[in-house]
This record gives sequence, C-alpha cells and structure tokens, in this order.
Amino acid sequence: MRDISAELHELEARGLRRRRRLVESAQGPLLDVDGGKKLSFCSNDYLGLAGDPRIAEALCEGARRWGAGAGASHLVSGHHRIHEELEQRLAAFVGTPRALLFSSGYLANLAIVTTLATSSCEVFADRLNHASLNDALLLSRVRFKRYAHCDLDALEEQMSLSLAPEKMVVTDAVFSMDGDIAPLDRLFDLCERHNAWLLVDDAHGFGVLGKNGAGSLSHFRLESPRIVYMGTLGKAAGVSGAFVAAADPVIELLIQQARPYIYTTASPPALAAALIKSLELMAEEPWRRERLLRLCGKLAALQTRRWQLAPSITPIQPLIVGDNAQAVALSDSLAAAGILVPAIRPPTVPEGTARLRISLSAAHTERDVESLVAALHEAEKSLSDRASP
Ligand code: PMP
Repeated sequence: MRDISAELHELEARGLRRRRRLVESAQGPLLDVDGGKKLSFCSNDYLGLAGDPRIAEALCEGARRWGAGAGASHLVSGHHRIHEELEQRLAAFVGTPRALLFSSGYLANLAIVTTLATSSCEVFADRLNHASLNDALLLSRVRFKRYAHCDLDALEEQMSLSLAPEKMVVTDAVFSMDGDIAPLDRLFDLCERHNAWLLVDDAHGFGVLGKNGAGSLSHFRLESPRIVYMGTLGKAAGVSGAFVAAADPVIELLIQQARPYIYTTASPPALAAALIKSLELMAEEPWRRERLLRLCGKLAALQTRRWQLAPSITPIQPLIVGDNAQAVALSDSLAAAGILVPAIRPPTVPEGTARLRISLSAAHTERDVESLVAALHEAEKSLSDRASP
C-alpha cells in the first residue's frame, strides 16, 4: 500500500510541503492572516471588489430571494432566471452573442476543450498555459502539441505540418505567473489562415483590460465566431465562477454535451445576483481600472541591483529572483516586515526563474506600493549583508 505519511515527510524534508494561510478578514490590501495584519500583494482581487459591502448586500438579497442553493444542475431544475440574466449581461459586457455560466474557470476550460476538441482535432497550446487548460487536454485525450511561450513561428510551423482536419489554438490571454499578454491579434490571424478555433483564457484580463474592462478581446479589438472566450468571475469580478462567451452554436453545443456543465449542480443563484452587482460596479466605477493601471506603472519603475521585474503592463508583476532559496528568503524577509508576497518556485514556473508574484489591486494606495518598494530595497540590503562575510 502507498506510504502516504512517508511521502508527506519527504515533502516536508525537501521544503515543498504547502500550507494554507488562515485568513480572518475579508479580502483586501490589509489582510488579517496567520494571527496578524499584513499588507497583501497576493490576491487576484484586481479591482478591489471581493470585499465590497454592496456586492455582499446583493449576495444576501439574492439569498433571501432565491435561497441558498440552486438545488439541481442547470439541465434539470437548477437554471434560475437570475442565472439567465447574468449570462445575458456577461455576453453584452464582452460583446459576444451568448455566454454560459460555469461554477469555476477550471470546469469551464475542461468543458470547452473536451467538447470542441474531438478525435479529428489537433490542439496547439502555449507552453505556459494554466494548469486547467493542460488538464483539459489530457482529459479530452485529444492530440496536442505545446509551442514555446508566445513563439508564433514555432506555432505556425506546427500548424503547417498538421494533417488534422480540425485545429484549435489554446492560450492564456494574460499569463498567470508572468503577467505578459499573448499576441492575440497575430494568433487570430494564424487561426484564420489555418481555419482553426482560438480558445482564449482571459482569467486575468477580464475586468482589467480592454474598453470598460471588457477583457483581452476588446484590448485587441477582436470579434469572431471562431473565438471561444473564457472569463473567470473570482478574480477582477470579486465573486466566484466563470463563463464561456462565444457564438450561439458553440454555447448550445456546450449545453448539450459538456460534461463539466451537465453533471454538476448549478452555482447558487445568489452568486449570480452578486455578480450582476459586480458587473454594474465595474461599469460605473472606471476609476478602479484607472488606479490599477497607475499603480502598475508606479511599481514598474522599481529598480533593484539584484532582481528584475518582468515586463508586464498587467497587475501581475513578477519580480524574477532566479534561485529558489533566495526567492523564499526574500518572501520571508518581506513577511517579517509585514508585507505578504508569495514566492513561486518550480514546477509552477521554469527552473531557475523562481520569483515573487506581486499582484496589485485597485484597493491598494500609492502609499502601499511605496511601502512595498521600500521593503524590497531594505530586503535587498539585508540579504546582501547576510551573503557577504
Ligand atoms: N485560468 C487561469 C489562467 C487561471 O489563472 C485560473 C485560476 N488561477 C483559472 C483558469 C481557473 O479559474 P477558477 O479559479 O475560476 O477555477
């Protein structure tokens, strides 16, 4: 029998055992975590909406109106009018004919790939795509190739050599560990030339990029029935869930055939009520995106002698450290100064590129960013002092 305890000890011994931090407050820049308040740069709450009392109130109101649970899957009796209304609003928000709600982005990605990529399809996937897209490829048992990160020449060569009658290109729009943006316009051109689907995972772009936060397709002014768009609702929108936005027949096919849609209970209708409020706030309060972009610019000016920020105009601002132990030491040193920034190590990122994943939120102030920059300089000094005899 598998010796699970030994495996866990081994993880512990190699410093790889992960622990969940205990958070005692609503999500926000000042997080009550593990017994103390810390200035946090580690959420995906890009617009600062997760702890917004108006959304919490809409959630309560939704629960009073619709109850706590959906009670059934969408195809049985769990599809409430408020789900339908949210889907219509999401489609209008991103500018596609139709949208379909999912309980999470992970499930939405599984649904799209397993439904659209049949055995006659070959899929081409960016090497740095999110784990849920990779898992979707494995679950669908489709033929797939991964191309070097954002390398369009490599992708074009792979597509040209493919004899598959159907093709699909799958990419994150904003890469979750790097913050860089996929060249969606050029990817779309390639897809046009090879008659391929383009699946865009906009978990980190929805609400942040594009006109009024409509997302990455709007950022690149793209609109096409060959694009299948996935946006998540637990990041900038501050609540939970995800949606697929696409042409009507694609959405209809997902409803008919996607197992991660069909065989799961619909998310609570009260969440849909909260999300409608969140969409309203995203539209009515453009200052959130404006401030977020300003803070990104402010942080991007950071210069240190030892480490470098990866080029990114999104709220994901990775500080590349390189060495695993040094990344952890830097994260620990910031934590000791009351600032929370996670160290990300392989296998989540490639070997030799351990980093601090700094993520910004519209709820941060300029002072917060200044505190982070000052703490990084301080940590740089003390780690250098420690390194030199
Ligand atoms: N895609 C990307 C790029 C993500 O970063 C994430 C979440 N980390 C997901 C999909 C999954 O979304 P969810 O958290 O809603 O399952």
